[in-house]
Amino acid sequence: MNILLLGSGGREHALAWKLAQSRLLSRPEDKFYAAPGNPGIADHAECVALDATDHAAVIAFCEDKRIGLVVIGPEAPLVDGLADSLRGEGVAVFGPSKAAAQLEGSKGFTKDLCERAGIPTAGYVRTTSLDEAKAALGRFEAPYVLKADGLAAGKGVVIAQDRAEAEAALADMFGGQFGEAGAEVVIEEFMEGEEASFFALTDGATILPFGTAQDHKRVGDGDTGPNTGGMGAYSPAKVLTPAMHGEVLKRIIVPTVKTMADEGMPYSGVLYAGLMLTDDGPKLIEYNCRFGDPECQVLMMRLESDLGELMLACATSSLATQPPVKRSEKAALTVVVAANGYPGAPEKGGAIELGQAEAEGAKVFHAGTRLEGDTLVASGGRVLNVTACGADVTAAQAVAYRAVDAIDFPSGFCRRDIGWREVEREAG
Ligand code: ATP
Repeated sequence: MNILLLGSGGREHALAWKLAQSRLLSRPEDKFYAAPGNPGIADHAECVALDATDHAAVIAFCEDKRIGLVVIGPEAPLVDGLADSLRGEGVAVFGPSKAAAQLEGSKGFTKDLCERAGIPTAGYVRTTSLDEAKAALGRFEAPYVLKADGLAAGKGVVIAQDRAEAEAALADMFGGQFGEAGAEVVIEEFMEGEEASFFALTDGATILPFGTAQDHKRVGDGDTGPNTGGMGAYSPAKVLTPAMHGEVLKRIIVPTVKTMADEGMPYSGVLYAGLMLTDDGPKLIEYNCRFGDPECQVLMMRLESDLGELMLACATSSLATQPPVKRSEKAALTVVVAANGYPGAPEKGGAIELGQAEAEGAKVFHAGTRLEGDTLVASGGRVLNVTACGADVTAAQAVAYRAVDAIDFPSGFCRRDIGWREVEREAG
């Protein structure tokens, strides 16, 4: 069959790498397209220029190329309803509808759903004006968790240490700091614990757990410095014990999928739950309606099932026909190599020489790269995702950093401690 993958980051390179191994693309006539793709994705798919915000153009491409499955990588086109537009024309799509993508697109929507379905999460208040928000602060204790309701590229959350800081942040949010995304602000109770990510595939009825991971949001070693899109990840997140895994499924994922279906917004695609492992058990921090980036890279490294078959089954409401997802027993770890300046203004155009980075079994996924003639150069903040497997996280970390050290990228940097929590636990 012919497949179209939308996106251009490290997440999409990992998806492209795994999809290229699918039985769905095994015949010589099967065509794999990516839009817009990147130089790494180009090893697996034909990269085409298509604007995901132009639904008519995407539909026309699918008709012209007889696309049997569209995989939407990032959240913006999902929240924008691209999956609905394609489904309206009879195209099978991996990714939720606009209504279902509200689970990521509106934090207030998700909090209300949790309340209706009795899902464990932080207490909250939705506010739509500065005065209302300031008054609501009195119902919480410091630190104050303030969230712009809509999509803000991972930057819409402020944890304020005292009331003055919270009021100043609220003034910025209602003052237009996040545009429309900040027209509503959710104030939440602060939860304490370690964070972990849980992924499940669903077609709206059947649910297949897909794996767990832990990411590293801060730019600096020891979890210091500003927040980023993610500087590295590993899988599995063993801090989430088998008992907690069962509890997350039963108390968080299942009631979410059931409530969405009952309320006429069946969720299909990957459901990514950000969790806080509190003393009272796992609680939901937030949902995302797509794979995490860079968590996707470690999930794909461990995946032994056919990704294309699973995605098609989600897209065609036939996930019940699929066996449980098979994963390697090994651990996987990915190190994000970023351009100097990230997460502020990254230095663009720096030359990259990958050398023998993949010689030891590591896989280098491209995130923000482009070709200038024959030279690979940095074109974004996060540039490469150097990913490796090992018997445990410590072993995977060693392979990944050996591969990082084989790369010549003078204008780039990375954290040197990805996986540190698990490495400490493994050391006993
Ligand atoms: P992401 O980039 O992960 O999509 P986001 O901007 O959508 O982030 P959240 O994941 O809701 O927002 O919050 C970002 C981070 O803020 C969380 O990973 C967590 O560290 C912290 N956080 C959010 N809510 C709470 C809470 N209620 N208690 C404690 N920490 C919180």
